[in-house]
Amino acid sequence: MKRSHSFCVYEDLDITEFDRGTRNNKRDSMWIRGQLTKKVQSKLNWLGIPHMAVDPAYTSKMCPKCSNIDDKNRKGKFFVCTVCKHEDDADHNAAINIGQRALDDEVLKLVEKYRYNTNKRHSALKELFKKRHRSYISIKSVA
Ligand SMILES: [Zn+2]
Repeated sequence: MKRSHSFCVYEDLDITEFDRGTRNNKRDSMWIRGQLTKKVQSKLNWLGIPHMAVDPAYTSKMCPKCSNIDDKNRKGKFFVCTVCKHEDDADHNAAINIGQRALDDEVLKLVEKYRYNTNKRHSALKELFKKRHRSYISIKSVA
Protein backbone atom coordinates (compact mmCIF):
# COMPACT_ATOMS: atom_id res chain seq x y z
CA MET A 1 0.00 0.00 0.00
CA LYS A 2 1.20 3.49 -0.90
CA ARG A 3 2.30 5.59 2.06
CA SER A 4 0.20 8.64 2.72
CA HIS A 5 1.42 11.95 4.06
CA SER A 6 -2.11 13.28 4.24
CA PHE A 7 -3.74 14.59 7.38
CA CYS A 8 -7.46 15.23 7.24
CA VAL A 9 -9.14 17.91 9.40
CA TYR A 10 -12.88 18.48 9.56
CA GLU A 11 -15.45 20.27 11.70
CA ASP A 12 -16.64 18.37 14.77
CA LEU A 13 -20.40 18.64 14.41
CA ASP A 14 -21.15 16.54 17.47
CA ILE A 15 -19.74 18.98 19.99
CA THR A 16 -21.47 22.17 18.94
CA GLU A 17 -24.40 23.77 17.21
CA PHE A 18 -23.91 24.33 13.55
CA ASP A 19 -23.84 28.07 12.87
CA ARG A 20 -25.33 28.25 9.38
CA GLY A 21 -28.89 28.24 8.07
CA THR A 22 -32.26 28.27 9.80
CA ARG A 23 -33.03 26.14 12.84
CA ASN A 24 -34.74 23.20 11.07
CA ASN A 25 -32.28 23.17 8.21
CA LYS A 26 -29.60 23.31 10.84
CA ARG A 27 -30.87 20.21 12.63
CA ASP A 28 -31.36 18.21 9.39
CA SER A 29 -28.06 19.39 8.02
CA MET A 30 -26.28 18.40 11.24
CA TRP A 31 -27.72 14.88 11.15
CA ILE A 32 -26.78 14.38 7.51
CA ARG A 33 -23.33 15.82 8.06
CA GLY A 34 -22.92 13.63 11.15
CA GLN A 35 -23.68 10.53 9.05
CA LEU A 36 -21.31 11.73 6.33
CA THR A 37 -18.59 12.40 8.92
CA LYS A 38 -18.92 8.84 10.28
CA LYS A 39 -18.57 7.37 6.78
CA VAL A 40 -15.58 9.57 5.97
CA GLN A 41 -13.95 8.68 9.33
CA SER A 42 -14.38 4.97 8.70
CA LYS A 43 -12.84 5.29 5.19
CA LEU A 44 -9.92 7.33 6.57
CA ASN A 45 -9.36 4.71 9.29
CA TRP A 46 -9.46 1.95 6.69
CA LEU A 47 -6.93 3.82 4.53
CA GLY A 48 -4.74 4.57 7.54
CA ILE A 49 -4.95 8.33 7.02
CA PRO A 50 -4.68 10.30 10.27
CA HIS A 51 -7.60 12.62 10.89
CA MET A 52 -8.94 15.06 13.44
CA ALA A 53 -12.16 16.93 14.21
CA VAL A 54 -12.00 20.58 15.30
CA ASP A 55 -14.53 22.97 16.83
CA PRO A 56 -16.37 24.71 13.97
CA ALA A 57 -17.18 27.95 15.86
CA TYR A 58 -16.58 31.07 13.73
CA THR A 59 -14.76 29.19 10.94
CA SER A 60 -17.04 30.72 8.30
CA LYS A 61 -16.85 34.32 9.49
CA MET A 62 -13.30 34.65 10.84
CA CYS A 63 -10.38 36.15 8.96
CA PRO A 64 -7.39 33.75 9.08
CA LYS A 65 -5.01 36.69 8.61
CA CYS A 66 -6.09 39.12 11.37
CA SER A 67 -8.55 36.97 13.43
CA ASN A 68 -11.37 39.48 12.91
CA ILE A 69 -14.74 37.79 13.55
CA ASP A 70 -17.58 39.60 11.80
CA ASP A 71 -20.81 38.42 10.12
CA LYS A 72 -20.13 41.07 7.46
CA ASN A 73 -16.89 39.34 6.45
CA ARG A 74 -18.99 36.85 4.55
CA LYS A 75 -20.92 37.94 1.47
CA GLY A 76 -22.48 34.81 -0.06
CA LYS A 77 -19.72 32.83 -1.74
CA PHE A 78 -17.12 35.50 -1.04
CA PHE A 79 -15.12 36.34 2.04
CA VAL A 80 -13.79 39.87 2.44
CA CYS A 81 -12.40 40.89 5.83
CA THR A 82 -13.90 44.17 7.03
CA VAL A 83 -10.59 45.10 8.72
CA CYS A 84 -7.57 43.86 6.71
CA LYS A 85 -9.44 43.37 3.39
CA HIS A 86 -8.18 39.78 3.03
CA GLU A 87 -10.21 38.15 0.23
CA ASP A 88 -10.97 34.50 -0.51
CA ASP A 89 -13.66 32.12 -1.62
CA ALA A 90 -15.90 31.73 1.47
CA ASP A 91 -15.61 27.91 1.57
CA HIS A 92 -11.85 27.99 1.01
CA ASN A 93 -11.51 30.58 3.77
CA ALA A 94 -13.45 28.35 6.19
CA ALA A 95 -11.26 25.38 5.16
CA ILE A 96 -8.12 27.41 5.98
CA ASN A 97 -9.55 28.22 9.44
CA ILE A 98 -10.47 24.56 10.02
CA GLY A 99 -7.00 23.39 8.99
CA GLN A 100 -5.25 25.96 11.20
CA ARG A 101 -7.22 24.86 14.28
CA ALA A 102 -5.71 21.39 14.16
CA LEU A 103 -2.26 22.94 14.61
CA ASP A 104 -3.21 25.65 17.11
CA ASP A 105 -2.19 24.59 20.65
CA GLU A 106 -4.03 27.48 22.36
CA VAL A 107 -7.28 26.57 20.57
CA LEU A 108 -6.84 22.85 21.25
CA LYS A 109 -6.27 23.51 24.98
CA LEU A 110 -9.42 25.67 25.25
CA VAL A 111 -11.52 23.13 23.37
CA GLU A 112 -10.30 20.37 25.69
CA LYS A 113 -10.82 22.49 28.82
CA TYR A 114 -14.43 23.36 27.93
CA ARG A 115 -15.24 20.21 25.97
CA TYR A 116 -18.61 19.70 27.69
CA ASN A 117 -19.70 23.34 27.86
CA THR A 118 -20.39 24.84 24.42
CA ASN A 119 -21.13 28.36 25.71
CA LYS A 120 -17.93 28.59 27.75
CA ARG A 121 -15.90 26.98 24.95
CA HIS A 122 -17.16 29.44 22.35
CA SER A 123 -16.74 32.43 24.69
CA ALA A 124 -13.17 31.35 25.39
CA LEU A 125 -12.44 30.86 21.68
CA LYS A 126 -13.95 34.27 20.84
CA GLU A 127 -11.82 35.93 23.55
CA LEU A 128 -8.68 34.26 22.20
CA PHE A 129 -9.43 35.40 18.63
CA LYS A 130 -10.27 38.92 19.86
CA LYS A 131 -6.94 39.03 21.70
CA ARG A 132 -5.12 37.95 18.53
CA HIS A 133 -7.03 40.52 16.50
CA ARG A 134 -6.05 43.31 18.96
CA SER A 135 -2.46 42.14 18.71
CA TYR A 136 -2.65 42.24 14.88
CA ILE A 137 -4.09 45.78 15.01
CA SER A 138 -1.43 47.03 17.45
CA ILE A 139 1.41 45.57 15.35
CA LYS A 140 -0.12 47.13 12.22
CA SER A 141 -0.42 50.55 13.85
CA VAL A 142 3.27 50.49 14.94
CA ALA A 143 4.54 49.45 11.48
ZN1 LIG B 1 -8.61 40.32 8.34
